Amino acid sequence: MGSPLIGVLALQGGFEAHERMLRRLGARTREVRVPDDLDGIDGLVLPGGESTTMTLGIAREGLGEPLRAFTASGAPILGSCAGLILLDREHLGLMDLRAERNAFGRQVRSFEADVDLLGLDGGPIHGVFIRAPQIAEHGPGVEIIGSVDGHAVAAREQNMIAVAFHTELGDDPRLHQLFLERVAALR
Ligand code: GLN
Repeated sequence: MGSPLIGVLALQGGFEAHERMLRRLGARTREVRVPDDLDGIDGLVLPGGESTTMTLGIAREGLGEPLRAFTASGAPILGSCAGLILLDREHLGLMDLRAERNAFGRQVRSFEADVDLLGLDGGPIHGVFIRAPQIAEHGPGVEIIGSVDGHAVAAREQNMIAVAFHTELGDDPRLHQLFLERVAALR
């Protein structure tokens, strides 16, 4: 079996940093812009950016239903920042949670913090928060796996992991590694 093929939603935002991180870990990547791009990928990353712009792009390209079908197939999904927002009840409706956008204030309030992530070995991971959302509410099937100052910023539900922050901008590949381990386990 060759290296896994990971799709990265590439309508807008910070998809290239995810691709670099994934390739560094030995995965192949494919930029996802239209439904056919989902064919044959082993996992999917929803990057940060502007959730409003990405939502418009998803509607324009008819990606909503195919993304739901892809998720239902059980393949692993990793969402970061705007990616977390896309996964919530009010957007793609794939995770049973409600993201509150720009929950830490506006751009000027961007900050960095070390986050203890449940299930991630080796100590806290460094997160960059850029107009980051918080998880304001969630259903019983959602496990909160990371918090900052009492605010939920990372969650897991079935095959999906969503984090409110960016780790792909730094040098710590452990979150992507965890994601790729789940991909490998399912192949
Ligand atoms: N604030 C952005 C949004 O609401 C998310 C920011 C990010 O992805 N870094 O879409």
